[in-house]
Amino acid sequence: FWDTCLRSFEKSLPPQQYNSWIKPLVLKSENGSLILTAPNSFTLKLVQERFMPEINRQASLAYSHVPPFEFRIIESDPANKPQEAATPKKVAPPTTVDSKPKSESSFRGYGKLNPSLTFDNFVTGKANQLAFAAATQVAELPGASYNPLFIYGGVGLGKTHLVQAIGNQVRANNPQAKICYMHAERYVSDVVRAYQSNKFEEFKQYYHSLDILLIDDIQFFAGKAKTQEEFFYAFNTLIDSHKQVILTSDTFPKEISGLESRLVSRFGWGLTVAIEPPELEMRVAILLKKASLGGYVLDEAVAFFIAKHVNSNVRELEGALKRVEAYAKFHRRAITVETAKEALKDILIAQSRQISIENIQKTVADYYRIKLVDMLSKKRTRNLTRPRQMAMSLAREITSMSLPEIGHAFGGKDHSTVIHACKTVESLKAEDTTIDADYKILLQTLRG
Ligand code: ADP
Ligand code: MG
Repeated sequence: FWDTCLRSFEKSLPPQQYNSWIKPLVLKSENGSLILTAPNSFTLKLVQERFMPEINRQASLAYSHVPPFEFRIIESDPANKPQEAATPKKVAPPTTVDSKPKSESSFRGYGKLNPSLTFDNFVTGKANQLAFAAATQVAELPGASYNPLFIYGGVGLGKTHLVQAIGNQVRANNPQAKICYMHAERYVSDVVRAYQSNKFEEFKQYYHSLDILLIDDIQFFAGKAKTQEEFFYAFNTLIDSHKQVILTSDTFPKEISGLESRLVSRFGWGLTVAIEPPELEMRVAILLKKASLGGYVLDEAVAFFIAKHVNSNVRELEGALKRVEAYAKFHRRAITVETAKEALKDILIAQSRQISIENIQKTVADYYRIKLVDMLSKKRTRNLTRPRQMAMSLAREITSMSLPEIGHAFGGKDHSTVIHACKTVESLKAEDTTIDADYKILLQTLRG
């Protein structure tokens, strides 16, 4: 039964997910129970939450009486944690730098971690479950699980929070670990500075001696050849010595135009996971969490009201809550739905246009069961182009946005692409009744 089960997952899941979560599992039967062993507690938790329904289904096909499942994890082997063994042996950079009189290293002290961005105050849900599981796992076993870990997703969805949380967790587990969090733009300017002042040795000394390198928003490397070359060396050195590399970007690595293919292919060596925009329930949970971090209990009705109206990303959601808090404080009023409505009046009006195109994109992506990021990408596979054209055409019909505006909202397409999409959808609707029906359902959903 387990072989059938594996084959079914292999067919239904993207290879990376299959290899990361399912393949490492071991199933054996013992004393009338089925023992499912996972490599670690994160994988186990994820498997229990996401994959057990399917495993149970398969089991019920194979057994007339399904034996009870028991769950175990393989205790992690300390030999798998190279960074803990290796760190004490390393020479700390201050020593090296001090020995060179008057030449303070220009490459230390950047990339500070923000201690308030932790796993504890990161709300999880369907949209970020996989990314969160991978992040916590990498934080427990840096260099020994997914290397590199590549997290991608739209703006304001929690990428920076999540990678900072990894850094903070590693630091908590191992205060000596040399961790560098850096925004990609900062890295680019470091390369430029090293180049101008001929300090590549120092630059290398710093970056090549890290235990954990976190580079945020790697799409900023696009078109920067020298940066990419230096990063390529740093990346190889770190990965070869089992040091953890963690990267984020706003799109799937292959979609970042202007990135060398040798980098793109290396980014795929570890695990690539997406963060999606949060669902309504998750947005509510985030608001409740933010309020409790702020020391008060937010009424659920208010949380629902804000979450319902601000659906673009978590940053906007936080901003809206802050506005409501400030408004209530200023007018000495309790935080109620009424207060929220007044506080957000102009935001609600100003955003309505933007919200509606985002609603359209999200609704169409959900309808066709594809990822929003993929729909907004440049990928041209058939399962993506059709929904993309439908969404553009719906946007044309429902919103008052111009053709270039619509194109822009679809990852920077030009107006002729939008025109082509609308024409294609028109003729498809005439030829194919299912497409016509899909369109009508989507239109109804959106207008309803
Ligand atoms: P990104 O880097 O993807 O643009 P950020 O990590 O900067 O997004 O997140 C934007 C804001 O939203 C931050 O203040 C962050 O703390 C918050 N945030 C994002 N996702 C979550 C989450 N799942 N739980 C709690 N806060 C979140
Ligand atoms: Mg960010």
